[in-house]
Amino acid sequence: MVKDKIDRMLEARRRLAKQLPDPSIVLAGSLMKRMIRCNKPGCRYCEKGRGTGHGPIWILSVTAGNRRVRQIPVPAHLRQETKAGVRRYGEIQKWLRQVSRVNVDLLEERKKR
Ligand SMILES: [Zn+2]
Repeated sequence: MVKDKIDRMLEARRRLAKQLPDPSIVLAGSLMKRMIRCNKPGCRYCEKGRGTGHGPIWILSVTAGNRRVRQIPVPAHLRQETKAGVRRYGEIQKWLRQVSRVNVDLLEERKKR
């Protein structure tokens, strides 16, 4: 009885393990857009209090070690690819949590034997 349950869990784990999304494109960062100011005198986009600045430009924010954050501007032609990499990172984190959940249940189940 308990054995059957463990077998089912192992099977679920095998199935899950095969569903790992392709990790080769991951980007561990977040993509944000930002307006920028050129600071040229008389620029109507950057006028104090009224102008909204130029852009938006897209920035990939990546946390490096020792609490440093790198802000990497992403040109338009690389935006979709970058978005996909950031999304994939989230998908794989979700996948990892699912596998871990099964393993936690497995641990609990094995303790009963
Ligand atoms: Zn300007």
